[in-house]
This record gives sequence, C-alpha cells and structure tokens, in this order.
Amino acid sequence: MASNITYTIHHDGNMEMAINGSLDENSEVFLTKALTEMKSSCLIDFSGTTNINSCGVRAWIQFLQKAEQKAEIRYTNCVPDIVIQMNMIPAFKGSAKVISLQAPFFCERCGTTKNITQEMKGASLDKLVSDTESVQCETCKESMEFEEVVEDYYAFLEEDLAS
Ligand SMILES: [Zn+2]
Repeated sequence: MASNITYTIHHDGNMEMAINGSLDENSEVFLTKALTEMKSSCLIDFSGTTNINSCGVRAWIQFLQKAEQKAEIRYTNCVPDIVIQMNMIPAFKGSAKVISLQAPFFCERCGTTKNITQEMKGASLDKLVSDTESVQCETCKESMEFEEVVEDYYAFLEEDLAS
C-alpha cells in the first residue's frame, strides 16, 4: 500500500516528514513506522494535506505524544484544516513549534480563492492579523476577505508568541 506520509532522515539526524492527501485510519501504520526511525528533531510539512477525519486526528495525537518524547517537533505550511484542528484540539499541536501556516482568502467580487503563507518567526499577533487586511485579488484587484474568524485562527499561537 502506498503511503501519503513520506519522510527522509538527514545525516544530522533531522527527519523531514510530509503529510500528503488524507490523514485518516490508514495513517497510523505509517506514523508508527516513522516514529521508530525518529531521532532528535522532526520537521513536518502539511502543505499537501487535503483532509483529516476523526480517526486521523486520534492517530495523530497518539503519534505526537510519543514523538515529543524523542524529538523536537516543528510544523511547517500548516494548511487551514490543520490550523483549525490545532485551535479546536490543543493536543493536536502539543509542544510542536509552528514555523509557518497558510491563511485562506477569497474575493467577494469574482470568487477567486487563495492561501497566503505566513512565517511565524519574529511575527507578532498584531502583524499577522494586519497582514490579513491588505491582500489583493490577482484577478480583479479587489481586496480579499479572510475566510476564517481572525481571532480564532491565530488563537493557538498566543502561547508561542508570548514566549
Ligand atoms: Zn477578485
């Protein structure tokens, strides 16, 4: 069976993992395998994650609780589905450090949607929020609307940014 979850281990022991497609009941076996090879750190890329179901959430939390014991965990390119999980379920993030996320926008005039990547390094909550207020539609040049509730979307970060 082909896996949506791929990983490579660098010479310095850092693992890079990518979660592509669906995080679901088929993910557990691959996450368990990755865990056995994990060393000091792991960077997890969610840019290709398309959906998550409740079995996937459960498998992820079990994986993360063990992974945190072995390695420093970082999340990158967290798509909106992942950000929403982190806000609803703190254990979905655990002590993982978020490097970057994708913020979703849509254009009320022409219907164009797009995600903007935001880097967390050195960012303040005010800066992240103000950046959502000046996104222009590439198609019709109208200013785009943020698709989620801004205060809720960045809620998971408050602890990180304070430290
Ligand atoms: Zn537009």
